[in-house]
Amino acid sequence: MVTSPDIFSADFKEEPYWWIDAPLRRTDPIALPARVDVAIVGSGYTGLSAALPLARAGRSVLILEANTPGEGASTRNAGNVSRTLKWSFDGLVHRYGIEAATAYYREAALAIEHLDETIKSERIDCLFKRTGRYYAAHSPKAYEALAREVDVLFKRVGYKADMIPRGEQSAHVGSDVYFGGQVVHGPGYLHGALYHRGLIDRAVEAGVAIAGQTRVTGIQRSDLDFEVVTSRGRLRAGQVIVATNAYTGRDGPVFEYLRRRLIPVNSYACATEPVPAELIQSLVPGGRPIITSHKVVFHIQPTPDGKRLIIGGRAGRRDKDLRTTAAYLHNHFATRFPQFAPVRLARCWDGYFAFTFDYLPHIGVQDGVHYAVGCCGTGIPMGSYLGRKLALRLLGKAAEAKTAFDGRDFPGVRFYNGDPWFLPTVMNYYDFRDSLPF
Ligand SMILES: Cc1cc2nc3c(=O)[nH]c(=O)nc-3n(C[C@H](O)[C@H](O)[C@H](O)COP(=O)(O)OP(=O)(O)OC[C@H]3O[C@@H](n4cnc5c(N)ncnc54)[C@H](O)[C@@H]3O)c2cc1C
Repeated sequence: MVTSPDIFSADFKEEPYWWIDAPLRRTDPIALPARVDVAIVGSGYTGLSAALPLARAGRSVLILEANTPGEGASTRNAGNVSRTLKWSFDGLVHRYGIEAATAYYREAALAIEHLDETIKSERIDCLFKRTGRYYAAHSPKAYEALAREVDVLFKRVGYKADMIPRGEQSAHVGSDVYFGGQVVHGPGYLHGALYHRGLIDRAVEAGVAIAGQTRVTGIQRSDLDFEVVTSRGRLRAGQVIVATNAYTGRDGPVFEYLRRRLIPVNSYACATEPVPAELIQSLVPGGRPIITSHKVVFHIQPTPDGKRLIIGGRAGRRDKDLRTTAAYLHNHFATRFPQFAPVRLARCWDGYFAFTFDYLPHIGVQDGVHYAVGCCGTGIPMGSYLGRKLALRLLGKAAEAKTAFDGRDFPGVRFYNGDPWFLPTVMNYYDFRDSLPF
């Protein structure tokens, strides 16, 4: 792909757009305490959502973060808040049966309500808008698949969605290449880094200590406690939570266990320069994020302040550099939405989210260490939700801590060690499947 300089604004940067409003707070690392009740590894949504209820219940809590707090996926995402899982409902029924499928989808719905409630009750100003979303069908078969699920999802889980035939889609999407689509009520979008900042602020107010630039390099049992070894010294902890998701490294047996079960997927997003409101209206007439039905999705939506557009896609691919990826994404939308062609990009960034081999999130305990990982790209609501569930478990509130994602076999694949060398081949296969009209 040719990278035309015309598609980049003069202030183009390879950095998350969200960091303009919510820059990372790069502070000097704090001194480590000798002992805490709970040590949490990872400072994203999952770690913070676990930390807050624990600290409020009187536990001493320390979050250990290898980089600057929030530098993982939690300030890099696209801001879409969904209540879907990577499985279609049909697919889940086929694999796990109707009861399990219903339970998983119900929890996905609960996760978004939990997020909404948290944002409201904690007064986090992150511009959360529950606009719903529009799934644009990339083929007639994709439209049929979306239509098949509308009734069953409403009856089983209470999801409300309307099918939009191709002839009526101009009220929802500013392109005529799609084969109709589905308006889903309930999801929305937010400013991911402001949400993260709000969680940090509340956690710190509740007494949580956060040690940035502190990599955990080992976790060992030591009498009734754990000894947590870090790049800046050791400490003891009564309980340990690992919330490192796609950034899980080779830092000891628990991390190795998770690495063998997680597929880190690189993903990309771009923000445009500020654009006129009429242009946004013509591209995204429904005001809802537009997500394509491709296996590897593309999406376009307004920024939560309504001044720019966010585009994203190309997950799992690795181009020569970020400008090449940005050019690819620009071209993808310009060829489908001609009015997008003159729009220039001001930011392009990447980051990693984690897939699992069964496409479902996992929460559990390994060697006495608690974890919640593998939200498969829905970590804004699901990471927050499972983080809170971890806290409830540690507080001994077994009934409230219950979740359908607990206690399931966490599959790995023989000889897989966390390095997803197979991703390009899988993505080529998905692209091929997506290109078929049937
Ligand atoms: C480009 C992109 C777009 C996305 N879009 C969306 C979206 O629209 N909607 C959505 O719901 N989700 C989206 N996601 C996924 C979502 O951002 C993640 O699922 C979520 O942020 C995961 O949160 P987390 O707290 O589990 O992990 P993270 O936020 O990734 O945090 C893990 C942290 O652990 C730290 N860490 C790792 N190892 C160690 C160690 N040994 N010691 C100390 N610290 C360690 C890392 O430095 C990192 O900061 C997107 C992700 C990306 C990259």
